[in-house]
Amino acid sequence: MKIFRVILFILTSLLMSCQTMAPILTTYETYPIYRGTDLGLTWSPKKSVFKLWSPPAEEARILVYADGQGGSALKIHSLKKGKNGVWSATFNENMEGLFYAFQVKIKGEWLAEVPDPYAKAVGINGRRAMVVDPSKTDPSGWENDRRPPLKDYTDIVIYELHVRDLSSDANSGIRNKGKFLGLTETGTRSREGDATGLDHLVDLGITHVHLLPSYDYLSIDESKPYDSNVYNWGYDPQNYNVPEGSYATNAENGAVRIREFKQMVKTLHEKGIRVILDVVYNHTGVTEASNFNQLVPGYYYRQNEKGGFSDASACGNETASERPMMRKFIVESVKYWANEYHLDGFRFDLMGIHDMETMNEVSRELRKIDPSIFVYGEGWTAGASPLPDERKAIKKNTLLMDHVAAFSDDMRDGIKGHVFHPEQKGFVSSLAGLEESVKFGIVASTLHPQVDYQKVNYSKAPWAKEPQQTITYVSCHDNHTLWDRLAVSAPEASEANRIRMHKLAGAMVLTSQGVSFLHAGVELLRSKNGEENSYKSPDEINRIDWSRKNRYKEVYAYFKGLIALRKQHPAFRMTSSEMIRQHLRFLEMNESNLIAYTISGNANGDSWQNILVVFNGNPGDKKFQIPGGKWTVVVNGEKVSETGLDSVSGGSMSIPPYTAMVLYSNNLPKE
Ligand code: CA
Repeated sequence: MKIFRVILFILTSLLMSCQTMAPILTTYETYPIYRGTDLGLTWSPKKSVFKLWSPPAEEARILVYADGQGGSALKIHSLKKGKNGVWSATFNENMEGLFYAFQVKIKGEWLAEVPDPYAKAVGINGRRAMVVDPSKTDPSGWENDRRPPLKDYTDIVIYELHVRDLSSDANSGIRNKGKFLGLTETGTRSREGDATGLDHLVDLGITHVHLLPSYDYLSIDESKPYDSNVYNWGYDPQNYNVPEGSYATNAENGAVRIREFKQMVKTLHEKGIRVILDVVYNHTGVTEASNFNQLVPGYYYRQNEKGGFSDASACGNETASERPMMRKFIVESVKYWANEYHLDGFRFDLMGIHDMETMNEVSRELRKIDPSIFVYGEGWTAGASPLPDERKAIKKNTLLMDHVAAFSDDMRDGIKGHVFHPEQKGFVSSLAGLEESVKFGIVASTLHPQVDYQKVNYSKAPWAKEPQQTITYVSCHDNHTLWDRLAVSAPEASEANRIRMHKLAGAMVLTSQGVSFLHAGVELLRSKNGEENSYKSPDEINRIDWSRKNRYKEVYAYFKGLIALRKQHPAFRMTSSEMIRQHLRFLEMNESNLIAYTISGNANGDSWQNILVVFNGNPGDKKFQIPGGKWTVVVNGEKVSETGLDSVSGGSMSIPPYTAMVLYSNNLPKE
């Protein structure tokens, strides 16, 4: 009896496991994986080889056209089924200049014609891929293009910019308005005589330009002329491996957008500026009709419990980076941009949607190309995802990731108040209780014995292992500009006081540990007329208004001075959390909205022995006891001067309202 029971148990278990396994056998995990790196087109003047991965296809074909849109196919050629779900076709002819699309038949029906996800050149509006001779996409001198030097990630000062915003103002003096080439023009001036565009970036001293999505996206009709004033941030990806056509001088010839993008990178590199691309692999602009979905339905996306598209991006879908062919696509795509376009970094939109394994592979593979390539992202999602938290590349898991950084919303909202409550004040506008959040930001989200993590606004524990894993910022393209936010949250304050708050916020970002990040135009008190979400607002809202450079010249000089100070003094750019713990001490404060700390011992090789930083977010003067000895003031809220604005001796010192002060001393008496 006993034996029978055991056999029965085994049989029942087997039956149950078959039942539980049955649905798995029908899911995407059973699709064969292709490990080759030749998906898409492999071109030579004599031969074009096309390869497409589509395991569920019953038939597959390529349609060749003379143009990027319209007309009927010059030829329709069946693809041959090979191993691991790969379909291929070889044409022994020179196909340069022709356009093509793929189509697969599933369950007896032909799906829509689309370019394959690996397409490297497309025609107008990205509807068809294009065959181009890669050597003709290089600007002259491209072979000599080199990444500007970068020693440590913490040396980075990022400037987050939309291609169009830099030049779209009539007062920009830039000819190629809204174009990649607009970033290559030098000698451009506003009517007031101030340097604009590229010259402005060089003068400001930033190290990296981070471009909002500049791969091919969907929402702009590329056939419309520039002055029809169509605008979009570009978070609706269409062709991931191709530059956006509306930023090129010719969107029809697929080679032009590639060459002009490279020209932009080359010119920025020549000026000492590195280039970062904002990448949005977490979702596609359309769902059912996307290139991914028309070739391998469902595979590249996560599904919800009902079998529909899950939506952690709040844009209608979320991709499934944990599936091997999606992970492979992301990794190969960033490698392609780094190798072909010489890009220096990648900012991952809604990085929390991706799994950590994918992000680690991205970082590892990019650092094999060049160890100075920088990877960071938004450590959150915009909605619920079926991927468990322990696998997500979310902020709290940054500690577990390898050379991947995340944005510090703790610091951002500590400085200016909660991002989703625009009327709320922050540290700089006198809201008490945010001191620990700011201190947590100052030490770049690392472990420090003087931070009380229970009092930090969002994170109750350090989430960065090293300072290079924290993006220190106060504003970006999302939500109000810092200047507009201060107008909404401190309407009672005079303009002069709001300027003080703004400058205080800038000083807090640029003196703190971690990687500095500035929203383009923050140095000119950029305003979008109070528009909170300008993703498709016209240029009048989104442009950088160059007349402000003259109007707020002291604000510009202040930001420029802070960047220079940061670059001259490695103490503000310490390279390890251990170094920060060793050198950075917070002073005991018994008042709200007042923070002071010292960085001592010539930290990180600094020429200054002792540095004192004080932030006063109060509306009145604050008396402050400075340690004995002679100190030189280098930042006083009004100005920045590395050689000194004033000198003070130990004792009581008055800190003006809404003010950052930085002092140094090389001869403090021994304790
Ligand atoms: Ca486009």
